[in-house]
Amino acid sequence: MTVPGLSVRDVTVRFAGLTALDGVSFAVAPGTVHALIGPNGAGKSTCFNVLSGLARPAAGTVRLGDTELTRLAPHRIAALGVARTFQNIVTTAGTVADNLMLGRHLHSRAGFTASALRLPWAVREQREHLARAREIAELTGLGPHFDSPVELLSYGDRKRVELARALCLEPRVLLLDEPVAGMNAAERARTAEVIARVRAELELSVLLVEHDMGLVMRLADEVTVLDFGRRIAHGTPDEVRRDPEVLRAYLGT
Ligand code: ADP
Ligand code: MG
Repeated sequence: MTVPGLSVRDVTVRFAGLTALDGVSFAVAPGTVHALIGPNGAGKSTCFNVLSGLARPAAGTVRLGDTELTRLAPHRIAALGVARTFQNIVTTAGTVADNLMLGRHLHSRAGFTASALRLPWAVREQREHLARAREIAELTGLGPHFDSPVELLSYGDRKRVELARALCLEPRVLLLDEPVAGMNAAERARTAEVIARVRAELELSVLLVEHDMGLVMRLADEVTVLDFGRRIAHGTPDEVRRDPEVLRAYLGT
């Protein structure tokens, strides 16, 4: 499998009178981690919504390798290999395994009837999905909780269930919207380790929205900075950290 890059070109999104994204462009190079940062309201989540088909851009294009994603329905985009997590936890009831199996459904041939009839190939397929879900649980540090109800997990573990579920789609591009938001220092460190491991072991490109600058500096190869819907800086973490425009946007001076 070759990992495609993701390119966002001149994307504009408007909500009744408000321009949430104003001609934004950036590219996630294949196999890299690209961070999208900026103050609250900068347009980061809106950008994720465009990339995952949940918001329609008024202008601009999004491409995954050579394939244009702009204005495709969310399920089509997911089927092409773009998976995301949400800023707020959206795990469902049930066990970790149940949540991860939801992520696998895109890859299953077996419809409800075939599974219900316990046709041998459907049973075999189900078993393979469960084995893969277990591997992904191990990779994301959720192995010991695989059969536990999600509601009994700590906040940090629950947030990693979302990450694991997105990985169960076998994505080529993973969009992470504030993966450590609300976590304590230990949970943050643990999640950073998990993201680094995911990146090392799976072939994918990552677009990371995160306020935790330590995490961004540690994980990102490149950073794009948004402020009020515009791109104000782009570069390596070190370059961006010293950029006067970025300091101004964050410090409000
Ligand atoms: P960020 O994730 O960077 O904090 P958002 O993308 O959530 O920023 O929001 C960018 C701007 O667009 C904000 O001013 C926000 O209030 C506005 N916005 C986001 N979603 C909607 C929506 N569905 N309807 C109207 N305004 C929205
Ligand atoms: Mg946001």
